[in-house]
Amino acid sequence: MGYNISVLECPNCAATDIRPGQSFCHWCRSALIISDFSSIYSMSNDAYSEYADKLTNNKDSYIKNGMQGDYENSLGMAYLRLGNTSLAVSSFKKAAQLGIQNPETYFYMGIAMLNKQRPFLSSKNNVSEVIECIETAINIEKKGIYYFTAAFVEYDFYELKHLRPPEPIDNYLSCAKRFGVTQKDIKMVFDMINYTVPNELLTRMNKI
Ligand SMILES: [Zn+2]
Repeated sequence: MGYNISVLECPNCAATDIRPGQSFCHWCRSALIISDFSSIYSMSNDAYSEYADKLTNNKDSYIKNGMQGDYENSLGMAYLRLGNTSLAVSSFKKAAQLGIQNPETYFYMGIAMLNKQRPFLSSKNNVSEVIECIETAINIEKKGIYYFTAAFVEYDFYELKHLRPPEPIDNYLSCAKRFGVTQKDIKMVFDMINYTVPNELLTRMNKI
């Protein structure tokens, strides 16, 4: 008799004395789960490309510990960093289906859906889905970068095409300013969509 107690194994050093809820291995300090994108964005190229492999090799360990949502989310972040946007979207969708309540999951699902290009080049349906993802993230947690990105998506797709945006762009910009969007946040998001932030949008936000 007795229970088969499963332990989470560190994907990097294979330590097995990891407690559920730990985000970092207390031995090698490597990430066990990625809950915000900036932590994988700041890793070196070698580190994040290895991370996805290590993670997938340890999938069973995450599942046994009831951490499948965190697993899929971490994998989505790693895929996005690697530039594999379709795999990123499918991992983020699985994390969402598993009920993860992390705003980053939804925000970066939207970023991945842009498929490394500006919204201007995307279809209207896709852009609507991207905005929906960002709105879901905002409903969980209000962050300046979420609002700023929503403003940019609407500006680039609707305003530049002389279409009426679903939400007034200046509302998003005013919230972006209020919730303290930073240049660092903006750079990270625009790196992922391979585009340069329009100065006109920054000027407009500063004037609000
Ligand atoms: Zn470790």
